[in-house]
Amino acid sequence: MNGLFNPKLANKLEQKTQPKLISEGKCDKCGRDYEEYQFKSGYSYRLGCDCKMIEQGKEMTKNFKQRQNQKEINKILSFSSENEETKNASFETYIPENENQAKAKVICERYASSFNQDNKQSLLLQGSFGLGKSHLAMSVLKEVKDKNYSVLFINLTELISKFRSTFDKDSQFTESELEKAIGQVDLMVFDDFGMNVTDYGMSKLFQIAESRVGKHNIITTNLSLKELTKTKDQQRLFSRLMSNTTGITLEGDDHRMKGFRNLT
Ligand SMILES: [Zn+2]
Repeated sequence: MNGLFNPKLANKLEQKTQPKLISEGKCDKCGRDYEEYQFKSGYSYRLGCDCKMIEQGKEMTKNFKQRQNQKEINKILSFSSENEETKNASFETYIPENENQAKAKVICERYASSFNQDNKQSLLLQGSFGLGKSHLAMSVLKEVKDKNYSVLFINLTELISKFRSTFDKDSQFTESELEKAIGQVDLMVFDDFGMNVTDYGMSKLFQIAESRVGKHNIITTNLSLKELTKTKDQQRLFSRLMSNTTGITLEGDDHRMKGFRNLT
């Protein structure tokens, strides 16, 4: 006696789980005849040809590898540069205040939605404080991360100090581990890029730039291109980092200052 058994329900469950024949045909890839069945859940499979399953297997392996990659990066570099502006940043919460900002948002959204490994592109977001450069960069990063790519958002000053910290006796990671992690990130955001760095910082920047050539990079900065490329070294550094780059200059009033002004 099993009081829990309900034949009516069992029958219903069976109907629900029976896959339905939805199509028949010849596979383009292997040339075999197949029948395609679909479950109520939407999941479908082919009987007679394994091409689809092999494809799905490959996709799963790729996703797994990407997640592993992100785990390794997180071990060394967590999202420590997140601040109040970027913590809750998303495209939904970026409200353009003029046409220029609306355009910038569209470009960033397009960049995020078309992100893939075959077409390496970079973005340079310029403009003065409080126009939402970091907000937009973080929105891109979150969307790209949702696609299982490995990502890193870091403030430039902080990145250099991370390098410096590898000299500490009890540092959790070595300089070369840090370098390796940076080199293998699918999308790297250098937030608040400036040129106010020491010789040590500059030499590290060259190393970092070298490891990011031909990869996806986003740079946010409140400096103009002229200010970023004052010296020969800076010009060289910048041209290494910024190949295949779309430049966006944000215009408008500093929205972080608005509340401030109202108080006076
Ligand atoms: Zn096939």
